[in-house]
Amino acid sequence: MKVAVVGAGAMGCLFGGLLAEAGADVWLIDIWEAHVDAVNKNGLEIEREGKTRTVQLQAVTDPDTVDQCDLVIVFVKSTHTGDAVLSAKRIAGTQGLVLTLQNGMGNADRIAQDVDPLNVIAGTTSYGATMLGPGRIRHAGVGLTTIGMWHNGGAEKAKKVAVFFSRAGIETKVAEDVRSIVWGKLLINVGINAITALTGIKNGELMDLEATKALSKAAVEEAVEVAKAQHIHVREDVVAHVLEVARATGGNRSSMGQDVDNQRLTEIKAINGVVVKEAARLGIPSPVNRTLTALVETLQAHYKKG
Ligand code: NAD
Repeated sequence: MKVAVVGAGAMGCLFGGLLAEAGADVWLIDIWEAHVDAVNKNGLEIEREGKTRTVQLQAVTDPDTVDQCDLVIVFVKSTHTGDAVLSAKRIAGTQGLVLTLQNGMGNADRIAQDVDPLNVIAGTTSYGATMLGPGRIRHAGVGLTTIGMWHNGGAEKAKKVAVFFSRAGIETKVAEDVRSIVWGKLLINVGINAITALTGIKNGELMDLEATKALSKAAVEEAVEVAKAQHIHVREDVVAHVLEVARATGGNRSSMGQDVDNQRLTEIKAINGVVVKEAARLGIPSPVNRTLTALVETLQAHYKKG
């Protein structure tokens, strides 16, 4: 299968690298020139548990230099999905599949505005990665990847991708109701990311105070109301599950926390911001998510560079 990854940062390089190691013809596409140059010159360095290996693959900044691909994986931050989808659309053509495993809600819908909706696959992954520098990533976590067709029909397309990923060692299963899977990940991010980003704490420190746990619970419960109003299946023990994820990833800074630490735009709009937007549309109150969103947006609007 010929694959293009649009947004070859930490996760794009990880998936692209693993697929290339398994023999796929992979193109990395990223706007970061120094990174693209480093991959082309030295290969992609993947560090895992203290050992580093190098994968040879092709990287470009100009999507127009990539031929049509069978699968395009969009792995930009959700703030850049609108730009990335233009590249994805061209490279996928009318037949290619476009997959998003990004965090947040709205990415698959945005992709389906420009790409044939019946070719859009969405999902979540428990894999984790960090960018170490141009051409260098750390493969942090492993776990299940779950994908499914964003719109009804064409399940065999998702199955084909799942088999392809699994053969490359990325354990992947197909879900019929992938919207509930993506919402499930969103609820975790809603309960952890903004709070840790605003306070500078690690995920596990969310458990230290009753007040912090209560804030997380309130944000998640608002989001659950929004999900249920859209007939999304939500697990019964979702609040306990979110806290369990915070405990299990206790030593980590959330991705939004890392974005704030590095003065980068966060994915707040696609996480707590989506809850606020959808709640307003459905006439559901969302004061906690509204406040968290406003605070993170204020913080990122006032980054002091240098
Ligand atoms: P990242 O910032 O490391 O990578 C994003 C890359 O996209 C950057 O290299 C950037 O230069 C590139 N980019 C931006 N606009 C572009 C465009 N128009 N065309 C091509 N490239 C463009 O981000 P990441 O950590 O890899 O995360 C990507 C997504 O995956 C996010 O939604 C994130 O929440 C999600 N995610 C991350 C992890 C993780 O462990 N890092 C785990 C699960 C999900």
